[in-house]
Amino acid sequence: MTYLIETYGCQMNAAESAALKKIFAACGWEETADADAAHLVVLNTCAVRETAEERFLARLAIHAARKKMRAKSGRPLAVAVAGCVAERLGDALKERGADFVLGAKARGPLEALLARWGEPENAPVCRPPFGAFYDDYHVPGSHKSFVPIMNGCNNFCSYCIVPYVRGREVSRSPSAIIAEIDRLANEGVREITLLGQNVNSYHWTGGIGQDKAFSPRSDADFVAAADFAALTRLVAQAVEDGPIRWVRFLSSHPKNMTGTIIKALAGHPCFCRHIHLPVQHGSNRILAAMNRRYTREDYCALVRALREAMPGVTLSTDILVGFPGETEEDVEAVLSLMDEVRFLYAYMYHYNPREGTAAYGLPGRIPDEVKKARLARIIETQGAHTVECLKKRLGSRVTALVEGPSRNDAGELLCRTEHDEQVVVKASGIKPGEFIEVSLDALAGNTFRGTRVGNGT
Ligand code: SF4
Repeated sequence: MTYLIETYGCQMNAAESAALKKIFAACGWEETADADAAHLVVLNTCAVRETAEERFLARLAIHAARKKMRAKSGRPLAVAVAGCVAERLGDALKERGADFVLGAKARGPLEALLARWGEPENAPVCRPPFGAFYDDYHVPGSHKSFVPIMNGCNNFCSYCIVPYVRGREVSRSPSAIIAEIDRLANEGVREITLLGQNVNSYHWTGGIGQDKAFSPRSDADFVAAADFAALTRLVAQAVEDGPIRWVRFLSSHPKNMTGTIIKALAGHPCFCRHIHLPVQHGSNRILAAMNRRYTREDYCALVRALREAMPGVTLSTDILVGFPGETEEDVEAVLSLMDEVRFLYAYMYHYNPREGTAAYGLPGRIPDEVKKARLARIIETQGAHTVECLKKRLGSRVTALVEGPSRNDAGELLCRTEHDEQVVVKASGIKPGEFIEVSLDALAGNTFRGTRVGNGT
């Protein structure tokens, strides 16, 4: 039996698609890139923006039409929808051509779904976990891996649909996290990213009695692994002296970035000196309307604390402009915050109303052309800041992780630094997953050109 997965949206969906592929493989299914050859198409969806949902619905319509054609020629095709749109629209998707709706919180139905095609006496037993997490998210052969540590969000930022589709926060048990990291180390993984909608509000309340599978280095470690700061220490201990050298995490909420977490990160060099810290806006009035629960002064103080604790740390962010009621003065506040912080890069969007969120009914919607013009100013400013940050690094000698051949020249390697900068190096005989020492010689766009000056230590 063959299947095809189309994945949309965030890294959590990418990680969950990797986990789904493991389950398919365990059930004896083969992946195909050809929808016409597949017995089952799975669409792993994103509902964060209306445009993403519309794109998915267009894909669903294409697969539904293919399904009808295939039924006529006696080659049935089934379509499953997983992820956030499955959660948001539920069984209504069946009227649009879906046969199965898996949802972001209900993973169990996959077992029944696969069993439908299996021959019970011969088919391998497939028991995907029931609950918020899978067991294994690793893409075989990759030197990088996501490790989900929590799922869902309790924050209810007024523009965001995530808490409604992903549900409230659920933290993964420390035993499952460490067991997965140990497995990844055995597979030779070099870099992991702890993943969740709001990783720094990680909060494990299961207690030792509910997590018997774990063999902690000491009981004290285990009991202490109740929050993100404690988890970082446990993760650092798990990767120490092993092949996993770099640990990243995504995404953090500024209000949850405590001094204890900063101290824990600073104390463990395995945590890369790059942090993605979504600010969203620079005006206190808009931040309050967004329900972000920090001020620009709080955010800037946090940036100073991070830079003091981890000299050289780079920061990236998310910025959302065009929120209802936003004035030109508010836009100036975003620009002045960007000037103050100097982000290495930013994901920048303009606001789009999402039905079901608190901001949906707010007065003062900004016309599309104004939103676009404001976004263009933000993008231009960030472009200048990115170049400025990168230029300051020219001439440095850094460690970089080899990701693979560069897009333009197979004789060159694309590498990434711990600060999340890209560097292209001419070198041979080096494989993805190796660390090398590189001098940052020149800039081409936002990518460094570098020279290999040694092996990574
Ligand atoms: S923190 Fe806010 S923006 Fe992020 S997922 Fe939660 S509700 Fe959405």
